Amino acid sequence: MNKTFAVIGLGRFGGSVAQTLDSMGYEVLAVDRNPQRVQDMAQIVTHAIEADSTDEHALKAMGIRNFDVVVIAIGDDIQSSILTTLILKEMGVKKIVVKAVNELHGKVLYKIGADRVVFPERDMGVRLVHNLISPNILDYVELSKDYSIVEILAGDFFKGKTLQELDIRARFGCNVMAIKSGEKFNIAPAATDVIHEGDLLIVIGHNDHLKKLQEQAY
Ligand code: ADP
Repeated sequence: MNKTFAVIGLGRFGGSVAQTLDSMGYEVLAVDRNPQRVQDMAQIVTHAIEADSTDEHALKAMGIRNFDVVVIAIGDDIQSSILTTLILKEMGVKKIVVKAVNELHGKVLYKIGADRVVFPERDMGVRLVHNLISPNILDYVELSKDYSIVEILAGDFFKGKTLQELDIRARFGCNVMAIKSGEKFNIAPAATDVIHEGDLLIVIGHNDHLKKLQEQAY
């Protein structure tokens, strides 16, 4: 059975979450107190409802408790965001993901039981900087404060060499998890696999070690 999602707040972020879920074939309930936003979204997702999410009765009436994941994408109205999180938590929603506008907002959300807090602007800023600093870093996923996964575009440093020759684990302390060659994904790279220019290396490691590898590789 497919997971079901509800998205509360249909601004740029919430709208994009709802639209992406819909395009991936998931059932989405979209909620906003602004009738225009609801009307726009109604043409895209399965169900769109106009409601104020700080109104517990309205949330109950739409059966929000039954959704597997509820994303709260309310922007600057921190009070609404916190109240909505609290109400959904008390209603027993299984998984609540909330967008925070700053660290303190995020801290409060975790304290009252949000399962995951995202900071879209901050996270996108961090990703962009990684990409600007080393153009061969195509993507970046922060696993924790200290550990990340990066996608490195193989240039001269890697070209024509095997993982064994590169000895990345011993020299840099990071691990090559997968190698993408065109459309082909090698998810269990062997020591003897040769890397070609333009391949994509998915590398996991400590941020300091990844930085060392990036500097060497660029
Ligand atoms: P973004 O930065 O992602 O564009 P916005 O602040 O523009 O975010 O959008 C937040 C959305 O959340 C708006 O469409 C607003 O109407 C909606 N919203 C804010 N408070 C509530 C609430 N209490 N109930 C329902 N929707 C809300």
